[in-house]
Amino acid sequence: MQTFFKEGMVKDAETQRSEAIFRNCVHCGLCTGTCPTYQLLGDELDSPRGRIYLLKDMLENGRKPTKDVVDHLDRCLSCLACTTTCPSGVDYMHLIDHGRKVIERDYQRPLFERAYRWFLAQVLPRPALFRWLLRLAPLGGVLQPVMPKPLKAALALTPDHLPAPAATDRPHVHPAATDQRRGRVALFPGCAQQVLEPEINAATIRLLTRLGYEVEVVSAPCCGALTHHMGKTSQADATAMRMIDAVLAADDRDGLDALVITASGCGTTVKDYGAMFQDDPEAATRAGKVAALARDITEFVTVEDLAAGKDALSEVKITYHSACSMQHGQKITTKPKTLLKALGAAVREPAEGHLCCGSAGTYNLLQPEISGQLKDRKLRNIAKTQPQLVATGNIGCMKQLEKGVGVPLVHTAQLLDWATGGPKPHQLD
Ligand code: SF4
Ligand code: SF4
Repeated sequence: MQTFFKEGMVKDAETQRSEAIFRNCVHCGLCTGTCPTYQLLGDELDSPRGRIYLLKDMLENGRKPTKDVVDHLDRCLSCLACTTTCPSGVDYMHLIDHGRKVIERDYQRPLFERAYRWFLAQVLPRPALFRWLLRLAPLGGVLQPVMPKPLKAALALTPDHLPAPAATDRPHVHPAATDQRRGRVALFPGCAQQVLEPEINAATIRLLTRLGYEVEVVSAPCCGALTHHMGKTSQADATAMRMIDAVLAADDRDGLDALVITASGCGTTVKDYGAMFQDDPEAATRAGKVAALARDITEFVTVEDLAAGKDALSEVKITYHSACSMQHGQKITTKPKTLLKALGAAVREPAEGHLCCGSAGTYNLLQPEISGQLKDRKLRNIAKTQPQLVATGNIGCMKQLEKGVGVPLVHTAQLLDWATGGPKPHQLD
């Protein structure tokens, strides 16, 4: 794709990088075939190629984003299915991130939208505040009939039962449960995850310590992904830097073999920390170190590690839902299924497995109609596989799908822990 930045126009470093990305696109349109919003809405401007044109026009001409452009870019899920499909390796993720940053800087959203986005950016990355507000959520039911749609969607997503805060999510070093320590890892507890499903981290700690690892739960409430995807760059960078400091402090204490992450949405962002801070060489070096340590739990655990659980899930029919951030963001496509199969499970995948379930960070709270359509489509495809249970590796997908899926929906780490000696996941009771 040719670019036509005006002669003499001063381009900041990020705009120069975006220009290089535009030039990689050969506008073949293959990406439209796997883009969820194009599939649903059929509008070229709601496809990756269309959004690339909108972003190019905005940056090339130094234009302020219009409402129309913002609407099309807001409808993007950042699911990154387009990056998996694109034969030219177009780095759409950094383009849309750049676009969101420009929107946040140059576009005045209507008051309710601004306030709602501010509210989400304040609450979700703070586990204690989020938990407190969820406790109040039942009171909101009275106001539901007069609420704007996004608030109704938020209320519908609140859990029926809120787990108590878990001691396992507090900063702590959990010793290896074997005679000899095999290694040492940091565990990032996650922000919304530790409030909504603390059993995921508890299962991960049991699993890793049983395998001989010392596990240090780091003192970082959020990785910055949620605010980063909302274009709130300074908040996201400050949150990410707190995480970077916490992980490097754990590394300084006694070395680390890995930073284990159990929410693939967080993993995608943490693995990109080096790029997030690339315009600040000192921060980029520290961020790059943390990114290099990051591993999804299913990447870190090997089939050999699960020998004790061989056949523990024998003949259990599991449908594996691969989160977009797992398959498109981190390109982890086979390992979680390989691990479950090593435990004897009969693993299936739903049709259209590449399509997003509509969760996508805060997307289900901001774009409830499209999110709801994608959720229903995903649930129909899962139902056709007739599973006994559904496994996935991202808290957002779990909460998006669990109320309609009709069978237990568990995190993969819970199954790996159960099969190798841990307790049965509570969802199976
Ligand atoms: S598939 Fe890649 S090269 Fe083709 S239009 Fe989409 S982004 Fe551009
Ligand atoms: S990230 Fe997803 S929704 Fe956005 S353009 Fe790419 S495929 Fe479409």
